[in-house]
Amino acid sequence: MANIIFENVAKKYGDTSIIKELNFEIKAHELMVLVGPSGCGKSTTLRMIAGLEDITHGELRIKDRIVNKVEPKDRDVAMVFQSYALYPHMTVGENIAFGLRIRKLNAEKINELVSEAAEVLGLTDLLDRKPKALSGGQRQRVALGRALVRKPSVFLFDEPLSNLDAELRVQMRAEIARLQKRLNTTAVYVTHDQVEAMTLGDRIAVMNKGEIMQVGAPLDLYEKPKNVFVAGFLGTPPMNLLNVRVEDNQIKNGVFSMAIPSAWQAALENFENKKLILGVRPEHITGANHGDSSGIYCKGQIEIVETLGHEVLIHVSMNEGKEKLVAKLPAHDIPKMGDNIKLELDVNAIHLFDAETEERIIN
Ligand code: ADP
Repeated sequence: MANIIFENVAKKYGDTSIIKELNFEIKAHELMVLVGPSGCGKSTTLRMIAGLEDITHGELRIKDRIVNKVEPKDRDVAMVFQSYALYPHMTVGENIAFGLRIRKLNAEKINELVSEAAEVLGLTDLLDRKPKALSGGQRQRVALGRALVRKPSVFLFDEPLSNLDAELRVQMRAEIARLQKRLNTTAVYVTHDQVEAMTLGDRIAVMNKGEIMQVGAPLDLYEKPKNVFVAGFLGTPPMNLLNVRVEDNQIKNGVFSMAIPSAWQAALENFENKKLILGVRPEHITGANHGDSSGIYCKGQIEIVETLGHEVLIHVSMNEGKEKLVAKLPAHDIPKMGDNIKLELDVNAIHLFDAETEERIIN
């Protein structure tokens, strides 16, 4: 049961705090993705698991063993990096076997493990090739093979696909997910790409400025972001975030006003005359052809139309440019740049956040 537990784990370089108190668990057998903008501390977190960075304070446990002072080689983890770091003068087979040779396994066992990994990764026919005769995807597979033969309890991936082109990235992503399920090994995967995180993770931990903002299943985070950061980070195009205020039992801004639905009354009790951020995803906005008074309607002018194929994204400027909205609409009846348009926001898909704390208010 290789679970990983962070208890008050912090990391400083000198006086600079890089990771503030981390408290979370990566469960045995799950693929946990650490995602967040560049510099938020994802790699540092991963490297602390690997033992490549000291922990300033707190406790890190792998398989219920405190590993703060345990050497990387004794942690039963294997790491795959962005750079493949293959030895150019060695064949694929020798590259995969290298770590095992260092550990002085006998030749027969090494051959067995290398053949097994090559089989899993579709490298059997390439074992005698040198890395320069491989494609980027094949090289990354060799790097995976090197980690695989060690049969670790935990796989650590540090942006392993960043060097590949978009198509190959999608393919390798699926392969890694399949491999992880097949081997049933705990895995931690670092990426700055939220699409990669959403598609790959059993669970995702969204990080910002050295802190975990939210941990959960991808869809749970997408549907119930805990704060404005997670709301704006997951999803392409991102969620629209509009400034509104609560006044006279209404939620309003310069563009629309809506009566507060009874289900929200209790949650908004203390927000009279306060500012809120109203979030709505582009796919929860439709063209409004009717005038039912219970909805949220916005009028604006189309600034940009992006045709995606079966859908279009329209960027709408409202209230003389003070508010902007992006809507994803079906591609029939495509409106034109400069057109005036009336849109309806799906009231059942609205997110509300306290403008001061940026925390979610309604559920
Ligand atoms: P991410 O992986 O999310 O891009 P990192 O974990 O690599 O972020 O880095 C987190 C922060 O720690 C960054 O601001 C980075 O500049 C800083 N940092 C990383 N390594 C060192 C170091 N050896 N000394 C000082 N600061 C560092």
